[in-house]
Amino acid sequence: MRFSEITGNEDIKRKLIQTVLDQRVSHAQLFFGPENSRKFALAIAYAQFINCTNKQGVAGNIDSCGVCPSCVKYQKLIHPDLHFIYPVATTKRVTKKPQSKHFIEDWRKFLLENNFQSGLQGWYETIGIENKQGIINAEDCNEIITTLSYKSYESDYKVMIIWMVEKLFYSAAPKLLKILEEPPEKTLFILLSEEPDQIIKTILSRTLMVKIPKSVIPGYGKTEEDSIHFEPFRHWMRSCYAGKIPELIGFASEITKAGREKQKSFLIYALKVVGYCATMNYRQLVPDGLEGEELKFIRDFSPFITSDKLIEFNTLLNDAIFHVERNAHTSTLFLDLSLKIVRQFKPNFIPL
Ligand SMILES: [Zn+2]
Repeated sequence: MRFSEITGNEDIKRKLIQTVLDQRVSHAQLFFGPENSRKFALAIAYAQFINCTNKQGVAGNIDSCGVCPSCVKYQKLIHPDLHFIYPVATTKRVTKKPQSKHFIEDWRKFLLENNFQSGLQGWYETIGIENKQGIINAEDCNEIITTLSYKSYESDYKVMIIWMVEKLFYSAAPKLLKILEEPPEKTLFILLSEEPDQIIKTILSRTLMVKIPKSVIPGYGKTEEDSIHFEPFRHWMRSCYAGKIPELIGFASEITKAGREKQKSFLIYALKVVGYCATMNYRQLVPDGLEGEELKFIRDFSPFITSDKLIEFNTLLNDAIFHVERNAHTSTLFLDLSLKIVRQFKPNFIPL
């Protein structure tokens, strides 16, 4: 996750980036805010930025690169120095002593498919703990201590993200407290919470609190400009789906005339649509701000955005944004992107 993929929150992004540039990253930070705030996305973008080996841009507009080996692993949440702890309970599969690590595959999928926006209920449904209450238990706190006692594998910083720290079981708190008081070198703890009032005070006092406001429009921050992108986007997707190469060539040449800022905002809109589809598929929710033809189209389009495709589309679109920003030859870029999307719909498609 790059900062530029998160809409809004400009002030917080700027402050977080500055702490890295000034080399004053606090080792334990608590990002707190309501369920629909982008605290998780910001935490990941922050950690990815800290560890990016090829930060891009100039002061005031700097971000992780998204393509260095560290960023690539961060985007898939598989970096060996990125660790997660979250509430768990026993399930049909894990019948005793549940720990975060037993659910890591579900966890990555949960975060990526929901664009880091789903809450506790969504998580409990994902792992099927039904009516039980998930907790962060003492075994997981022992795991934190063990994990962090090793040297980092690849990056300068080891990052430990603890989600919903208010679910920390009281008997596990002293262990976490101890490591927050005497942290191993080059370790960053990011604690995430929706209800900081419920966090044990001694833990709270060891963290730097960062308030993340709720998103203006829950979810994806729909903008005025999005409405002008809808028609061209629908036409483009229909042409991709039908594999209409002449139309796709026409699309590439049209959008090339539009200029880079427009191209970028079009691609960001496309990313939002993919996000809307995921919200409909996985949360059975209609994102705010959608109506009429656009809603109808997204409803029809969402069944195509399965979990695999969600990751593919996100990668393709983010790569395209990356290249548009870097002055790639855009007509080639958009034609290439279109053909890759055609293959998402028709894996064996050969343009004739
Ligand atoms: Zn990078």
